[in-house]
Amino acid sequence: MNKLKKAYQDILSEIPEHVQLVAVSKTKPIEMIQALYDEGQRVFGENRVQELTDKHQALPKDIEWHMIGHLQSKKTKYIAPFVSLIHSVDSIKLLKIIDQEAKKNDRTIDCLIQFHIANEESKYGFDITQVDKQLEEIKALNLENVNLRGVMGMATFTDDDKQISKEFEKLKHVFNQIKASHLPSIDILSMGMSDDYKIAINHGSNMIRVGSSIFGSR
Ligand SMILES: *Cc1c(COP(=O)(O)O)cnc(C)c1O
Repeated sequence: MNKLKKAYQDILSEIPEHVQLVAVSKTKPIEMIQALYDEGQRVFGENRVQELTDKHQALPKDIEWHMIGHLQSKKTKYIAPFVSLIHSVDSIKLLKIIDQEAKKNDRTIDCLIQFHIANEESKYGFDITQVDKQLEEIKALNLENVNLRGVMGMATFTDDDKQISKEFEKLKHVFNQIKASHLPSIDILSMGMSDDYKIAINHGSNMIRVGSSIFGSR
């Protein structure tokens, strides 16, 4: 556990105050999350619904749980009662379901729109060449129980820092475009993971999602 604490404090000391750290605890046991909680961390990210709900039940109730992985519409109901932020909204259909499930729970759910910025085929997200059209569509839904807070993206898995920089720059541009033309209140730019969070912060990220650099490899 001392190694965990050291890794955590090292990262905290490196990131500016305006950047929020989401500790990505997927696959890691309750004990490790509790240890980080005891160090003061309150924001944790998970990518699977079952694991997220199990951990929410087992751990202190003042933890803010973020859903960071692809969310199947039909599983939204399990996290709707408690999730603090969904980073991975990748379709209009999902957005509508989140709104419905939030309504059933008499709450508003904060969401980020995930954009596809990587080279890789496999990553989910909206198309960055259609931002205005997609935002018009989203605004026309008049969702009452979804609060759009910003955007999220994942860079290509590569050692090429230039490539990663280019992709984060694109996402920052999308964020600025949405803020200027569609949703002036958005305030979250979620980008950066263990291997690229420093680059992400240099490109304006204010929320990083870090797993293995804190908890060790999976
Ligand atoms: C797993 C995951 C992370 C954290 O990855 P690390 O490389 O372990 O820091 C961040 N974002 C998403 C969407 C993830 O699935």
